[in-house]
Amino acid sequence: MKKIFSGIQPSGIVTFGNYLGAMKHFVDFQTSYDCMFCIVDQHAITTPQDPVALRDQKRKLAALYMAVGIDPNKSTIFIQSEVPAHTQLAWMMQCVSYIGELERMTQFKDKSEGKTGVSAALLTYPPLMAADILLYGTDIVPVGDDQRQHLELTRTLADRFNRQYADIFTLPESKILGRRIMSLQNPEKKMSKSDANTKAFISMLDDEKTITKKIKSAVTDSDPEVRFDEEKKPGISNLLTIYSLLNNQSVAAIEKEYDGKGYGAFKTNLAELAVTVLRPIQKRFYDIYESDEVDNALDAGSDKANEQAQHLLQKAEGAMGLQRN
Ligand code: ATP
Ligand code: MG
Repeated sequence: MKKIFSGIQPSGIVTFGNYLGAMKHFVDFQTSYDCMFCIVDQHAITTPQDPVALRDQKRKLAALYMAVGIDPNKSTIFIQSEVPAHTQLAWMMQCVSYIGELERMTQFKDKSEGKTGVSAALLTYPPLMAADILLYGTDIVPVGDDQRQHLELTRTLADRFNRQYADIFTLPESKILGRRIMSLQNPEKKMSKSDANTKAFISMLDDEKTITKKIKSAVTDSDPEVRFDEEKKPGISNLLTIYSLLNNQSVAAIEKEYDGKGYGAFKTNLAELAVTVLRPIQKRFYDIYESDEVDNALDAGSDKANEQAQHLLQKAEGAMGLQRN
């Protein structure tokens, strides 16, 4: 069975961007692939996190993975910091990374822009991500469109290591799952769970009133036509993408349905659709979150991941000369 690895940061509560761009697709992979779903808390701390909130967000992310349909008996759900091999291999991957190529990453540029005191770890995020993936001999990495550049760098680093030391790493293929979902407040920016403006995203745990308010106040243009045009009408185009992904209808069919009806009717129905999709997920979430299913799954997941990670960690240490014999 081919191996899949995908990570999500517990840097907030997962949004529609994470769900429609990544998580939603994971459920189907479970039958045909050996899947590792990682809660990447060491990535999350590359920007400041409140420690108490971070712990809770990890449990919530684990419960959300399960609530959308990830079965811990089929897939491995685990926390990155509970498997030390990730940071051990990350150090080795940093040693084959060049500062210039890390500085070119758009995520680094976006997240460091205008900030003072940017952490060194924000720069070295991609070698840690490469380690996460390479440790398990991953064949396929299903991620949202925003991670394309990091995936290419992972392949570059794996290939460089293989040539310089020993041919041990599988070069992973990326599987870009869907369109990039944009911020509701600034459709030029991607939707992010760590956005300081909570109106910019819909979280998977937002209640009905909040979802309706956020959709109604989403930034659109002044022309009332519900039409997909990313360049001239980025706000409504983003809402059309969300609508189409939520009810598996083509954008063209939705445009036709709302022909002449204006933004008001469209936004009202989109809010209703969003609530309908989220309701059963939220119900399952609260059942799981309040049970001991989360800890049981995470304990088993970390045991499995720790065992599997040793094989390539030791090979990499051997190849670089970090073992005594
Ligand atoms: P942060 O703001 O902390 O970086 P994030 O919302 O970008 O959070 P990540 O944990 O970085 O979320 O990414 C988790 C997964 O969601 C990845 O597969 C990523 O590609 C995908 N993803 C993130 N944002 C979007 C988006 N706006 N549209 C589509 N996919 C997305
Ligand atoms: Mg991100």
